[in-house]
Amino acid sequence: EKIIRLMPDDVRKKLYPEGEITHTSSSELMEKQKDERIFCHRCYNLLYYNRVTSDTWQESLTTDKSILSFLKKKDDAIIVTVVDIFDFPGSLLEDLDILIGTDKQNILVANKMDLLPNDVNETRIKRWLYEKCKKFGLTNISDIFLISAKKNWKVQELAQTMSTIRSGFDDIYLIGKTNVGKSELINSFLRCMVVDGWRHKVTSSPIPGTTMGMLGLPLTLFKETFGVNPKGFHFPQTCRHLFDTPGIINENQLINLLTEEELKITIPQKYIKPLTFALTPGKTIFLEGLGRIDYVEGQKPIRTTVFSRLKPHITSIRRADEICQSMAVGDQTFLQPPIFSSKRKEFPAMIKGVKKYAMKGIPGTMSIKDVVFSGVGWISLGGMFDKAVIDIWSPNGIGIYIRDKPL
Ligand code: GDP
Repeated sequence: EKIIRLMPDDVRKKLYPEGEITHTSSSELMEKQKDERIFCHRCYNLLYYNRVTSDTWQESLTTDKSILSFLKKKDDAIIVTVVDIFDFPGSLLEDLDILIGTDKQNILVANKMDLLPNDVNETRIKRWLYEKCKKFGLTNISDIFLISAKKNWKVQELAQTMSTIRSGFDDIYLIGKTNVGKSELINSFLRCMVVDGWRHKVTSSPIPGTTMGMLGLPLTLFKETFGVNPKGFHFPQTCRHLFDTPGIINENQLINLLTEEELKITIPQKYIKPLTFALTPGKTIFLEGLGRIDYVEGQKPIRTTVFSRLKPHITSIRRADEICQSMAVGDQTFLQPPIFSSKRKEFPAMIKGVKKYAMKGIPGTMSIKDVVFSGVGWISLGGMFDKAVIDIWSPNGIGIYIRDKPL
């Protein structure tokens, strides 16, 4: 729809007589219609608004992260790995040490900090991110930035560091899973870096040694903005780039299952006020139809705090089973998403992704664990867990992570 809307009427009719949309590669489309100047959505945004949209990589989105392995041979590259703090560790690319080697400078950027309460302890979060990254196969992190691309928080500081550590010859590559906010980060760089009233242009350039054409931001931009030019190297002629790489689809992310309409009510856009409940044994807490925790065995109530845009619902385990059975046969329940319609009759059934999880803690002391539903939010469980056992459900059982050290 977006693509069609941007086209002049007569051209639209010629190209899509039935009103049908087929995405043509941008270069093809531009070549074909050079004189009529039709652009697909992403090219239109690049050319006229100098803005990157998340469908920029529509054609090259992949679940195969080996697409990034060309970076292993690039010994003059600096890597900026972007993760979503709201969906961590789910949004981290695993085994990056193996994929791109351990010889590169790697800056970790945790985005969407605006969704967290503003009294969070940044030092503790950074330590926690560092430990988790190590566990998931990323060891040589040279710096960690907690940013909000949307609000431009710490984006200038990040750019300054990138500018300082590169020797003047190094390209910088942004890598990350889809939906972590890479496009938003590039746009934030563009917003922050107006030099003499002139905005730098995003361009599409091929990377030597790969078949990918990647978006590039000339790194002169960083130099001009911050005046950092460590080796006195003159960039303009042989200018190096900040390259965006194709987002790696996060197969484990629950939001991949959602329609546009459902995404609008699910993806958090601003700070989420946590809601707290007491969950007693025999009860279930639903995160609409995308997450469910059953308190199967235990004595004391669990303090349950929900960090999600979706509404929590508490009911008995027996009633929860009935609701899940209804959803499994495509009946609309009060839990939304999923929203069933004539277009969408089926949705992956809720199943137990984690069974009989014993919430171990130090006897007699308060412990906290976070159950993360990838991309949707998390439920923090607190209490004396001497004998508490839970089951955790999600559609197809995907996207569940348990964090021992809560955020
Ligand atoms: P990409 O797939 O990595 O390019 O991700 P996008 O830049 O398209 O962002 C994915 C979603 O996250 C969009 O709905 C953005 O509005 C949202 N988003 C990106 N950055 C931020 C941020 O800093 N804060 C918040 N709250 N949302 C963000």
